[in-house]
Amino acid sequence: METTLIILKPDAFAGQKIGATITRFEQAGFQIVGCKMISLDEAKLKEHYSHIADKPFFPELAGFMGSRPVIVMALRGQGIIDRVRLLVGPTNSAEAPAGTIRGDFGADKMHNIVHASDSAESAEAELKRFFVDGEIF
Ligand code: ADP
Repeated sequence: METTLIILKPDAFAGQKIGATITRFEQAGFQIVGCKMISLDEAKLKEHYSHIADKPFFPELAGFMGSRPVIVMALRGQGIIDRVRLLVGPTNSAEAPAGTIRGDFGADKMHNIVHASDSAESAEAELKRFFVDGEIF
């Protein structure tokens, strides 16, 4: 069993796609083992997006991700890290295939509904970043 970190982004709230997105995860058989609503400040976003913090779009991304509280979720399942990335689809929603979460609900490169850890190493670091002991069950 693997556990991965999901963030339901502000555009998922704006488009009322929170329930539909969680339903996709449940239909895939994944278990929610942690879940809370939090605000992401600039420091947390710089840490989480350190690999792109020097990109010209980062200030806009930070503004978007900090525009309202988000939901962070710990999701568990067999081979979940790769399987969730397939379910979510590629970064650019406009190019994401129909049937993927980003393809069906997202708008563009930035507004793509959901974050999902991209490797076992990222999942471990990201779960620690957003959850403390006792918050993942
Ligand atoms: P992913 O979320 O698919 O793993 P990245 O780690 O490359 O993608 O980027 C993190 C987030 O930054 C994306 O989910 C998206 O919201 C935003 N982003 C990435 N590339 C761009 C871009 N070229 N323009 C605007 N926003 C972007």
